[in-house]
Amino acid sequence: MAPRIFRSAFPDETIVQRSIFTHQFPEPPVYPPEYPAYVDAQTGVTLNRGHIKDLALTFACALRNEKHAKRGDTIMMFSPNSICWPVVVFGAVAAGLRCTFANTAYTADELAYQYKDSHAYLICTTRANLKTVQRMLTSETVGVRLKEDAERRIILLPDDFNWVPGVKKTDAKKHILGLTAFEDLLKLGRLDREEQFQGVDAEQETVFLCYSSGTTGKPKGVETTHQNLTTVLDMVHSGFPILSPTGDRMLAVLPFYHIYGLVKLLLFPFICGVSTIVMPHFDPLAFCESIQRYKVTITLIVPPVLVVIARHDCVEQYDMSSLRIMFSGAAPLGGELVKAVKSRLRPTNQPPLHIVQGYGLTETSPTTHLLPILPAPQWGNMTEESKYGSIGFLLPNLEARLVVDDKDGHAQTDDEVIDAPEGERGELWIRGRSIMKGYLNNPTANTNAFFPYSSSPPSDPTPGSRWFKTGDIGIVDKDGFFWIVDRKKELIKYKGFQVPPAELESVLLTHPKVADAGVIGVESAKESTELPRAYIVPADSSIVSSDRAAELSREVQDWVKTKVSRHKFLRGGVVVVPVIPKSASGKILRRYLKEQAMKELAGR
Ligand code: AMP
Repeated sequence: MAPRIFRSAFPDETIVQRSIFTHQFPEPPVYPPEYPAYVDAQTGVTLNRGHIKDLALTFACALRNEKHAKRGDTIMMFSPNSICWPVVVFGAVAAGLRCTFANTAYTADELAYQYKDSHAYLICTTRANLKTVQRMLTSETVGVRLKEDAERRIILLPDDFNWVPGVKKTDAKKHILGLTAFEDLLKLGRLDREEQFQGVDAEQETVFLCYSSGTTGKPKGVETTHQNLTTVLDMVHSGFPILSPTGDRMLAVLPFYHIYGLVKLLLFPFICGVSTIVMPHFDPLAFCESIQRYKVTITLIVPPVLVVIARHDCVEQYDMSSLRIMFSGAAPLGGELVKAVKSRLRPTNQPPLHIVQGYGLTETSPTTHLLPILPAPQWGNMTEESKYGSIGFLLPNLEARLVVDDKDGHAQTDDEVIDAPEGERGELWIRGRSIMKGYLNNPTANTNAFFPYSSSPPSDPTPGSRWFKTGDIGIVDKDGFFWIVDRKKELIKYKGFQVPPAELESVLLTHPKVADAGVIGVESAKESTELPRAYIVPADSSIVSSDRAAELSREVQDWVKTKVSRHKFLRGGVVVVPVIPKSASGKILRRYLKEQAMKELAGR
């Protein structure tokens, strides 16, 4: 049977063959260099578009000449959001490097895993994160022995703004001996407008390596190419053509180290000529204050931020009337939450406030679907309310299908893949030029993620020709709008952050009193997120039905806090059980654990 393929309702964008640097900084420039680009929320210090280009090219020159970075090397960014980010990222890209980005909550061990796996050498970090970096470099996993070797790899990002053109100099913190300071590199570098590398193979050259666990297992490096990025930016721009360079300001409160913040808050506003107000992390007061101070018109957030906005006392103290779009992603957004926020911020919806959601994955660079602002001419008299909870329409240049059977992932031909009948649910598969090249050095994960896939090179002569299996279950309604209704893959998301169960299970197995473990996610309606919950089998089986079970569960819950970063804490609880349900091949049957959890938590 012919596959049932959903196509975007919008005309395709032309696919371009150029580096993401050239895409961000076309010649002649689309917007004047004096337009503000990135603004530090706390101080108001601003980098304009001209500054960004000059500083990035200077940084690129210094990376090559002073740090001897070569094309294809990997640089790691381990820093909260700041206005240094665009300089580092665009500079590294101009120097021909790959960038990998790590969660600043990571422990030294978690960071070591990504640093090693991504083959990073240079690492940019702040004073606040320096200790973790030093411990990571000298850890057993990375194994740097000499102090000088560790120091050579670190670029220390500043706490001040003395490096920003036109800013009055303040007292700088004392230099840390042995480390290269970002601002010194900017002094050593030379502004060479030809610095950006030439001859990029946009289709095949990897530029970003964000980490995602995909459908199963530990985090993997997602190879995002130049073309993935140029395509997704153009797709989103055409699907969301409502930004005005002079009228709009975006608030960047989501971390740049996640693909959502990286593409939608660091790259996208720049392409649109819109300025971005940069916040280091989410804090309800600072968030509302920034919206008032900078008259922010657009925020990109995750559902738990909306929960805070719906409830926190501080919201009433600020003028939030400039906000016109709140864009949610990375996790499901329910209609009730949308209504609660709207009735709090705009009881009469004047001026109108739109709360819409998008959908995507690290592997899809990320956005594949967007809910349009309704009503809109092309959507007839459909109302926004009727589509609350939907992820909207498929963006241009993409195709999708909903698959009910692919022979447990072993289908090799189209005949072996069965699509869902009209209006029914199936696993969402997506195809197009914004889909990642693949997981770094991981043929098994690639075989599982794509259809069809051959792990022997050349694996994909035509980028975008393979179907990527999202691991999410969706449906398409009669208007062509997509809805995510379930998740097939094991991934847990806590407030938009990935929590790979396999990673927590391997940590739990290192506890001397734990013989086996299985981890699942349970819903918290109150916080609008999932919470990781562990089932453990004690090494001493007599504990299971004794008073000591509660004690062990508390002990393990506390112990995990010393081993992993905050978003992976077992907030959903730890339950002591006699056995973890498994298939004949030893795979954890998470479905049974989920059913058990639902019974245990019913009525709470
Ligand atoms: P990440 O790679 O960290 O962005 O995580 C991608 C996963 O987040 C998807 O596969 C979904 O399971 C989930 N996700 C992202 N956006 C949404 C959304 N709007 N609704 C439901 N789930 C979402």
